Amino acid sequence: AREIHLKQRPHGEPRLGDFELVETELPDPGDGELLVRNTWMSVDPYMRGRMNDVKSYVPPFEVGAALEGGAVGEVVASGDERYAPGDRVLHGFGWRDHALLPAKRVQKIDTTVVPEQAYLGVLGMPGLTAYAGLVEVAPVRDGDVVLISAAAGAVGSAATQIARLLGASRVIGIAGGPEKCAYVTEELGANTAIDYKAGKVGAQLRAIAPDGIDVFFDNVGGEQLEAAIGSLRLHGRVALCGAISGYNATEAQPGPRNMWRLIGIRAQLRGMIVTDHAHLRDRFIEQVGGWLASGALRYRETVVDGLDAAPQAFIDLLRGANTGKMLVRVG
Ligand code: NDP
Repeated sequence: AREIHLKQRPHGEPRLGDFELVETELPDPGDGELLVRNTWMSVDPYMRGRMNDVKSYVPPFEVGAALEGGAVGEVVASGDERYAPGDRVLHGFGWRDHALLPAKRVQKIDTTVVPEQAYLGVLGMPGLTAYAGLVEVAPVRDGDVVLISAAAGAVGSAATQIARLLGASRVIGIAGGPEKCAYVTEELGANTAIDYKAGKVGAQLRAIAPDGIDVFFDNVGGEQLEAAIGSLRLHGRVALCGAISGYNATEAQPGPRNMWRLIGIRAQLRGMIVTDHAHLRDRFIEQVGGWLASGALRYRETVVDGLDAAPQAFIDLLRGANTGKMLVRVG
């Protein structure tokens, strides 16, 4: 089997030399274990944080060991009577072509409505993040004006559509470049898109939404968060989901300079981690699965082929090369 190890901790932007492809021998599965041939694996922005040696909500990756992350695959040998060769499963042992893992760490997936890799994107962790953010963390109410950052990405593209489907009167997406902005309005149904590479977000937002916004779903942080705070209305709500603009930073980033505004408008900024919202999973699968089946909600994937291309796919994800979910077809 082949797996990708973290060779050294990246400093700033990750480089190919920070990763290493390693050949391993996998034994047959023991009692309660499964051997899974991975078909798809996910690269996600949060993995950048795990590459640093810092205390966080998940332990850091170890140098010299295989990376981990979401993956789907096919059971090829089973030491658990509940699983048989051919079963399709979702698990957390990505960054390798074969995984030997305890059966209690996998989840069977239903591929009758969506293809298996959708469980790494729209019907998986990123989709649930978008759903939980807008249902629970910064709930969207009828008539709200909702702003979403990284709106053309995995979480953001789901959030943009979910905001609309939950009754927002107006949805504004922020993305990098005219093509992504066209995707956000034409395919995802946002009313307007802001191209953050074309000019200051604060000024663009004030021009588009002079009366302000009610909800901000933030994937980016930095300048975009400051701009959103500047436009929040009375009782505005912010889901702090990600801060990708600072993930490769080697020094502390300046915070929003306008936090004092939150006092007068009695606003709420709330950090979120998707795993706290597992109780929403059934409702999410039913509602978002229903929207997918009816065509009310759509998704895109950016697919890179081959396990050995995974490090580059991860580097490119942080540079914004993806539209929709960035995936590696392990093949
Ligand atoms: P995306 O598919 O959105 O990919 C990342 C995108 O971020 C890129 O496509 C790029 O889009 C954008 N980006 C990169 N650098 C910058 C920058 N400097 N400024 C603005 N935008 C930038 O990834 P995900 O959907 O998987 O994740 C989105 C966010 O959600 C991340 O911050 C992630 O950490 C967070 N997250 C949080 C979870 C939680 O539980 N709190 C769970 C899952 C994700 P563009 O071309 O538009 O710049």
